[in-house]
Amino acid sequence: MKEIINFIDSSKERYIDELIKFLAYPSISTNPENKKDVEECALFIKQHLESIGMENVKVYPTKGHPVVYADWLHAGSGKPVVLIYGHYDVQPVDPLDLWTSPPFAAEIRGENIYARGSADDKGQVMIHMKAIEAHLKKNKSLPVNVKLIIEGEEEIGSINLEDFIAEHKNLLKADVVVISDTAMYDKDFPAISYALRGLCYMQIEVTGPNRDLHSGQYGGAVDNPINALANIIAKLKDDKGRILIDGFYDDILPRGKIEKENIEKLPFDDIKYKKSLEVDELFGEDGYSTLERLWTRPTLDCNGIWGGFTGDGAKTVLPAKAYAKISMRLVPNQQPDKIEKLFTEYVKKITPKTVKVSINGLHHGKPAITPIESKWIRAAFDSIRQGFGKEPVFIREGGSIPIVVTFQELLKAPAVLLGFGLPDENAHSPDEHMNLNNFHKGIITASIFYNELAKLNN
Ligand SMILES: [Zn+2]
Repeated sequence: MKEIINFIDSSKERYIDELIKFLAYPSISTNPENKKDVEECALFIKQHLESIGMENVKVYPTKGHPVVYADWLHAGSGKPVVLIYGHYDVQPVDPLDLWTSPPFAAEIRGENIYARGSADDKGQVMIHMKAIEAHLKKNKSLPVNVKLIIEGEEEIGSINLEDFIAEHKNLLKADVVVISDTAMYDKDFPAISYALRGLCYMQIEVTGPNRDLHSGQYGGAVDNPINALANIIAKLKDDKGRILIDGFYDDILPRGKIEKENIEKLPFDDIKYKKSLEVDELFGEDGYSTLERLWTRPTLDCNGIWGGFTGDGAKTVLPAKAYAKISMRLVPNQQPDKIEKLFTEYVKKITPKTVKVSINGLHHGKPAITPIESKWIRAAFDSIRQGFGKEPVFIREGGSIPIVVTFQELLKAPAVLLGFGLPDENAHSPDEHMNLNNFHKGIITASIFYNELAKLNN
């Protein structure tokens, strides 16, 4: 490894030059006007992968933006196959006037490189390309079998990727999926994300009388769907933040001791958090810290509520209908289908006979977890410790990364989320940047990671 790391250290300047070229493509996936830029960016990656010695490099068209694939499979059948995922598309750049330098002309200021896509996710894609290159240049081989899939639609929900993976299951077959598209915990806290929350999104429609009524002529004698709906919502959670749906918590995977201790040792400042949100008190499930509430516990939130008269002035109406959208963030091993069923049964049970209710599921996403004791996570842990000179912390994500679940379901491969961004690098905002020390240490870490993975049996 020493030679490889020396090679990486001596290539520092060149890596930055190459990253700047990659960052110059305005590959904004949501803008139809940038379709050609997105395609050209895919071609840039193709050429780059060929130049570093990857094989079977191909740009696969989809119904939307292309997927770039490449592999190098000569490590031998005894070595694991590692599928590395990243994306080359970026978020839009507006408001443009809030950028200190143009978003597609990367500029280095201090320790950071500023450009759209620097942290999310081109910088992280480049990290893997350079780690692969270092092995292939110095050793003429990679310690593991590597497959790369770099998509162009992550920022628009990876709309065609699931089909692509389903159609190319054999091509993508792997023992582990490595996703570098997340952030570290903080500047001095390199991290491994090992779990994501899922989602179950519902809509409730409450119907009262067959038409809007005059609240003077009918008010007091007929139930009001808005009042009834407010009562239903109030009964979904108690004042200690506990969700009251029968069986809701039954399938939650209990936290292990290491997990609990790890979260406890992470610095988190509730006072700063409150200040940043301008709230006097936080609210969440009783008995859990803020980080536990964000990462390890499910939620139930009303996302929208409407009905009746909402215009200016006063209209004395007793409305016929009322609606609410309610979402639940789920944790492993809660299943969205089952939660939808439990939610529906419970809401029917608590709905008064004075109104009718109809309940629809709008969106599902499964939660995901790769146990921190797994050999893949241990290998990532050892690599970060060597690459950053510091033990990483284990973190979870409060949100969802649907692609993780897609990989797990279709390829039956565990995922390791190895992120080199920082939480305050303005991904999706003006002045997006990436810390160049993390970029460099990321390349070293990734190159070590392939070596550590090679020590594992497949
Ligand atoms: Zn991303």
